[in-house]
Amino acid sequence: MHRESMSKPQQRIVSGAPLDEDARLDASVRPQRLADFIGQGRVKENLAIALEAARSRGEALDHVLLFGPPGLGKTTLAQILASELGVAIKTSSGPLLERKGDLTAVLSSIEPREIFFLDEIHRLLPAIEEILYPAMEDFRMDLIIGQGPGARVHPYQLNKFTLVGATTRAGLLTAPLRSRFGIVHRLDFYTPDDLCEIIRRSARILNISVDEDGAAEMARRSRGTPRVANRLLRRCRDFAEVRADGKITLSVAKEALEMLGIDQHGLDEMDRNLMLAILQKYSGGPVGVNTLAAALSEDEDAIEEMYEPYLMQLGLLDRTPRGRVATSLAYKHFGVEESRSRYTPPLFRNS
Ligand code: ADP
Repeated sequence: MHRESMSKPQQRIVSGAPLDEDARLDASVRPQRLADFIGQGRVKENLAIALEAARSRGEALDHVLLFGPPGLGKTTLAQILASELGVAIKTSSGPLLERKGDLTAVLSSIEPREIFFLDEIHRLLPAIEEILYPAMEDFRMDLIIGQGPGARVHPYQLNKFTLVGATTRAGLLTAPLRSRFGIVHRLDFYTPDDLCEIIRRSARILNISVDEDGAAEMARRSRGTPRVANRLLRRCRDFAEVRADGKITLSVAKEALEMLGIDQHGLDEMDRNLMLAILQKYSGGPVGVNTLAAALSEDEDAIEEMYEPYLMQLGLLDRTPRGRVATSLAYKHFGVEESRSRYTPPLFRNS
C-alpha cells in the first residue's frame, strides 16, 4: 500500500500545491489560450472582454488579482493573458523578493504591456509592497539617492505593464494593495464535469487511454482542483499499465485511487485525521486552528490553505468566530454519533 497520503501536505497526492513530479507534465498540459481554459466561465468571460478592450486601445491591461486555493489555474491564467496579448511574462513571488533591489530590478526591465506575475502576493514584505504602489498607479518608482538628511527622491518612469497578482489568502492582502487592482477574480473549485473535460484533454495530450467512466471517477475524487486531476490521471495511468491493460476504466480508476488512500470524495488520510480529531477529540468543536495544528503536528497555514477550503466546500466543516466546527453531515460521513450538547454553528450548512 502506498503511504504518500500520510506524508507532509506538500507531498500529499491530493494537495493543490505543486509537487516535484508535476513540473514536467504541468508544462505539457497547461492551456495556452483562453479558449482552452476549461470552466470558470464568469472569470473567462470578464477577462476576454478586458483583453479585447486593452488590445483595441493598444494599452496595457488593467492590473489583475486572482485568488483562490492552490492548483485552480492562477498561474495558467497569467500565462494565458500574456500569450493572448502577445507579450512576454516575468514571474516572481512574494517570498522571493527579499530586498528592494529584487523588485526594482524586475520592474525596471519590464517592456511595454508586458505581464509581471507575482505569486503569493500576500507574503510581500511591507517595505517591498510600498514600491508597488506608485509602480502600479503611475508606473513610477521613487529611487532614494544618498543617505540621511542629504538623501533625494529621484522618480524613475517605468513602462506601462500589467501586474497579475495571485494569492491563496485574499484576506491577508492590505487594503492599499488590493485597491490598486482594477480586475479582481476569485477562482472557485471546479465542477466534476469541468474536471472530467480537463482529464480528457490531458489524456489526449499525454496519449493516455481512458474511458468516460474512468475519467468521471478521477474527476469526482480530484477535490475540485485541476492540478490534482492531472496528478490522479498520471497515477492511474501507472496503475493501469502495471495492473491492467493500460486503459483507465471505472474499475481501474477505483482500484488505483483506493490504493492511494483517496476516498470517493477525494479525501485522504490527512483530511480524515483532521475531521476525526474535531469529531472525537474535541466533540465536534468549536476548536481553534492552532489547537488542531498542534494535535495533528501540522502547519496552521497548511490547514487553512489546503485542507479547510475543500472540507468546507463539501459541507463537512464550518469556520465560526469561536473555531472550527464539524457539521451534521460530517458526523454522518465519518459514522460518528452526534453528541446532543454539541455546538451548532450560526450558518449551519448540511448540503
Ligand atoms: P495555481 O497557480 O492556481 O496554483 P496552476 O495555474 O499552476 O494553478 O494550475 C495547475 C495545473 O492545472 C496547470 O498545470 C494546468 O495544467 C492545470 N489547469 C489549471 N486550470 C486549468 C483549466 N481551467 N483547464 C485546464 N487545465 C487547467
